Amino acid sequence: MTELTPMMKQYAEIKNKCKGYIVLYRLGDFYEMFNEDAILASRELELTLTGRSCGQKEKAPMCGVPYHSYEAYVGKLVRKGYKVAICEQVEDPKSTKGIIRREIVRMITPGTVIESSMLDESENNYLACISEKFERYGLCFCDISTGEMYLTEIPKNKGKSELFSELSKFLPKEVLLGVGCSKDEKLKNFIEKRIDGIYSDLKEEYFEVKEQNNLIIKHFKIKDAQSSGILEMPAGVETACALLEFLKETQKTSVANINTLNVYKHGQYMELDIVARRNLELCQTIRNGEKRGSLLWVMDKTKTAMGSRLIKKWLEKPLLNPMHIKKRQEAVEELLYDIVSRDGIFENLKKMFDIERLIGRIVYGTANARDICALKSAIEQIPNIYEYTKNLKSPLLKEIHLRIDLLTDIKDLISEAIVDEPPLSIKDGGVIKDGYSDEVDNLRCLSSGGKGKIAQIEQREREKTGIKNLKIGYNRVFGYYIEVSKGNVSFVPPNYIRKQTLTNCERYITDELKEYEKTVLGANERLTSLEYELFCTIREQIASQVHRVQRTAQGISNIDVLCSLSQLAYENNYVKPEIDFSGKIHIKDGRHTVVEKTLDDTFFVPNDTTIDNKKNIVAVITGPNMAGKSTYMRQVALIVIMAQMGSFVPASYAHIGIVDRVFTRVGASDDLASGRSTFMVEMSEVAEILKNATENSLLILDEIGRGTSTYDGMSIARAVVEFVSNSEKLGARTLFATHYHELTELESLVEGVYNYNIVVKKRGDEITFLRKIVRGGADDSYGIEVAKLAGVPESVIQRAKMILKDLEGVNTSDISKIKNKDYIIDETTIKSEDKLQTNKIIERLKNLEMDTITPIEAMNELYELKKMI
Ligand code: ATP
Repeated sequence: MTELTPMMKQYAEIKNKCKGYIVLYRLGDFYEMFNEDAILASRELELTLTGRSCGQKEKAPMCGVPYHSYEAYVGKLVRKGYKVAICEQVEDPKSTKGIIRREIVRMITPGTVIESSMLDESENNYLACISEKFERYGLCFCDISTGEMYLTEIPKNKGKSELFSELSKFLPKEVLLGVGCSKDEKLKNFIEKRIDGIYSDLKEEYFEVKEQNNLIIKHFKIKDAQSSGILEMPAGVETACALLEFLKETQKTSVANINTLNVYKHGQYMELDIVARRNLELCQTIRNGEKRGSLLWVMDKTKTAMGSRLIKKWLEKPLLNPMHIKKRQEAVEELLYDIVSRDGIFENLKKMFDIERLIGRIVYGTANARDICALKSAIEQIPNIYEYTKNLKSPLLKEIHLRIDLLTDIKDLISEAIVDEPPLSIKDGGVIKDGYSDEVDNLRCLSSGGKGKIAQIEQREREKTGIKNLKIGYNRVFGYYIEVSKGNVSFVPPNYIRKQTLTNCERYITDELKEYEKTVLGANERLTSLEYELFCTIREQIASQVHRVQRTAQGISNIDVLCSLSQLAYENNYVKPEIDFSGKIHIKDGRHTVVEKTLDDTFFVPNDTTIDNKKNIVAVITGPNMAGKSTYMRQVALIVIMAQMGSFVPASYAHIGIVDRVFTRVGASDDLASGRSTFMVEMSEVAEILKNATENSLLILDEIGRGTSTYDGMSIARAVVEFVSNSEKLGARTLFATHYHELTELESLVEGVYNYNIVVKKRGDEITFLRKIVRGGADDSYGIEVAKLAGVPESVIQRAKMILKDLEGVNTSDISKIKNKDYIIDETTIKSEDKLQTNKIIERLKNLEMDTITPIEAMNELYELKKMI
């Protein structure tokens, strides 16, 4: 077998060191990929696959991307879940003989992205690490673009649900698994299918770092290890150390921007598992997974990317301590009434860039001069925000004010050193301002003065030779040359050395020109490399202030969220809820935060809620389909979550006794991916709820048992009501919607159960939804009436009515007892229905204005007509 070429040998060695990564190998102005990487990338990025001679019989498959636009391509690969290693030339090709040295300078994976073009600015991008130690899961989450790290532990005996719940809170894009977890198929399945992340096993030695506590204490400059909480979490600390090691290796830098460590215990925040998050549509809708239509969509009025990431965190982690909630409430209240400060702060925030991520890129050395200028203009907004927050009184706002640093020194440094509108590239000069460095100024003068000198020579030579159209030009091959047209060649002096003959002219060089060329080009070259060096020093100088910039960024994101909550309360007439440990939920005129925003032509009807965990434990809610049962139950859950975030709520009064966890069992959904039927999913969710709920939880149970036969379903539903309402067994506040009217009897049989129904008005066959919840059970389901409203054909409606009458007659749900002879559909009804529909279609066609209709309108009309048929 023949040998590989030296370059391909180097490539193979590098590729061998980063298994599992697509290697982008720098070759001149391109990043090239070879072999299996090239085949994969050409497919994923739609690049042309070519080949490169590699010393073997067959050419190596190859494809490449231009170096200046690699970000977009890498972004695409990373979004698809691939991991990429960037291999750079680390020597100057001009001063190297033979093969240039190349090294991996960075590894980019879905969890380690810092480029703004690859990140969603309103979301954190977490990398997680999970390990097992002493019968506990250690968990660590880190967003390297913002520098935050979270650390916690979960006892293994709690089962996987708490681990999954924690993962779904952070939705990490990438999970590193410690040895104990790398064989856990259920966990891997959850990461891949439920949170759409990637996972990889992390070698054992990452978890065997020595002196783990000390490493964390040193890295995060923890002053009081005892109160930091890390000493009680050895498994958590182990994952944090492993994660930091992994980052050092992949990022090839000091990861100095990761310096906020949040150690939290399980149970410090309200628990919301993946099912509840999904069903309550907290951050995205069930239908299309978009933010629009979710609770966050209504609540997020923040003006900065940092604020929008923080409000999402608050929403995902409502608080449990009334004191902490009240602190936020007071701040929101103060800003609600102080319109001048709120508007003033908002105005300045609008112009604020994402300093949290900018400083991240500065620390990692990937920020360019434009990023540095963006930081400067963000800093310019700070004095106004500082002034507006100076006289605010609430303790939280005072704390925030103290966090804000004017960062004047950084701003001054940037103003003095960097030009106002720098170029994209930092390696081609034009970045450093005149007056910042004498050396730069001198070289600049030399290089531009040199160019002036060329013009002088041109003038002089014209006069000396009498050739009026003599020109001095420049190209990369000959450098500077004198161009003389063919007709004037006889006037050319002997010191001109001919270099090139073109159709109409001759080109010459002279010793003098060569001399100048050296000075000019030399100065230019020295200038660009000096500018690059200076830029890197300035970037490092700013990076050394990362703590101050991050503290300020935190202050700014907090004030943004608090202003946003005040604005929300102001625009929507929300009230401040009372918060305590009373175990009550008492809401007057409560509204659904999102539904009230989406109704076009009707008003949202407010409703009251009174439940507690002593006497009024379970509200059994009946009422026709479409009456508003689901909306009502979700509205209560959303109000509780908003209240515990510190937000005001859509009601005229609200008193919320702290809820430790919201559980939902709503609607039908099957999980075919994991091979479970609709009913199986429903029952597993019920099982999870009954196992994990406490007396302080809030349960939203919508139509439990409907996925099976009537009697089985009803029996399960009743047993669940009995269980949750029994204080000795559970006694958790529960809203329970059902179509089993039989369950309304429980009010008189089981303590703590009360009936409610949502009223409708019936006139003849027609029903009107009043959307008002009142005490007592509903008298009817009105299912057939709702089916009629939904447009089910009249013949089917008529037949349904007949069957219902029969069923009521035989008093059974056994459908076989219904006489089949009744199933003679009245042909005349069908015919008259058909005729009616045909007439409608003809009428629509007649009314079409052919002269004015646009092609799109015509298409839509055609679509509608087809639908009618
Ligand atoms: P089903 O039993 O069929 O699931 P439901 O009783 O749960 O029905 P919802 O889905 O809650 O009914 O409500 C149906 C629609 O009624 C909602 O989409 C909303 O537009 C409207 N609605 C619900 N509650 C109210 C209200 N309080 N005020 C105004 N409109 C409401």
